[in-house]
Amino acid sequence: MEKEELTKETMAFPLLEWFDENKRVLPWREDPKPYRVWISEIMLQQTRVETVKSYFERFMNHFPTILDLAKAEEDELLKAWEGLGYYSRAKNLQKAAKILVEQYDAKLPMEQEELLKIPGIGPYTSGAISSIAYGRKAAAVDGNVLRVFMRLLADDSDILKESVKKKTAERVLALMPEERAGDFNQALMELGAMVCLPHGAPKCKECPLMERCAARKQGREEEFPKKSKNKLRKRVKRTILILSYQNQIVLQKRPDTGLLSGLYEFPGLEGIYTKEDIGIYLEQMGVRAEKIKKIERARHIFSHVEWYMQGYYVEISKLTENKVHENMPWIFVERKTAREQYPIPSAFLAYKKYL
Ligand code: SF4
Repeated sequence: MEKEELTKETMAFPLLEWFDENKRVLPWREDPKPYRVWISEIMLQQTRVETVKSYFERFMNHFPTILDLAKAEEDELLKAWEGLGYYSRAKNLQKAAKILVEQYDAKLPMEQEELLKIPGIGPYTSGAISSIAYGRKAAAVDGNVLRVFMRLLADDSDILKESVKKKTAERVLALMPEERAGDFNQALMELGAMVCLPHGAPKCKECPLMERCAARKQGREEEFPKKSKNKLRKRVKRTILILSYQNQIVLQKRPDTGLLSGLYEFPGLEGIYTKEDIGIYLEQMGVRAEKIKKIERARHIFSHVEWYMQGYYVEISKLTENKVHENMPWIFVERKTAREQYPIPSAFLAYKKYL
């Protein structure tokens, strides 16, 4: 079995060379000021790079500084966040910005330990800000970095364990060249995102570390990273909306391929939202909610995924001018017809009584 023998010479420098030649041009990368790195990392938490690209500059134009963010009106803030979803991220950013103004002279601290005291900034984000914006030696270990290391070392540790994340952070720090801390973290993430791809399809022939990769040498690259069995099933949180309008209920058809394809379901959102978030979302869809009531929570287990659902019963009082919902697959169906004629899978059993 291959022993761990990665060094700066054999791993860090070739990786940085590859990064210099191949890195994507990203707006926050071009001008990595602390505030810009922070905002981009929060946006990227639950949203794809391509989507974030189009919203990032717009947001920065609205709120060019931490002070601007701290004193923004909530409506303006949410409007600038529109399209990114998970509105609570925007609200939490503002909460943190207020603390930065009150306690840190409207600046993000340099050191990882200090950054960790700010709400919403965890080990990964603090490492990213400290290294990318301030050049401090700090590790930023996300799923990409874990995958790269587990494959490079053919390490079959369970990456869901905190101890494995910690060990990986130590490995990153041991290999990190002092003068290029931020670039090294970004190079690892970039390799994971562009070459050492997840779900068994790494592009090893394009990898600058191919000669050093234990998993590749053993022909086992698709076996890593390992995750503990009971967590193999993906857990997805969903908000389920039972939208009632006059004597009708809103349903939508699921896509023609994939899970529960072609069946009908209640509209939903990925993630668990608050009543307030749902009100804002519906308003944007052109639907005015008269009453939003939290109802059952439910869980449904499929073979590869588990849904954790929070239901809301919404009485719609009005369809407004802003009829975005008309571009959605929403259909307004008379309750009796919905009960009798539309195939609604048992995953929604807990909510069928509202039909
Ligand atoms: S050689 Fe393949 S498996 Fe190994 S680090 Fe590179 S892309 Fe990942």
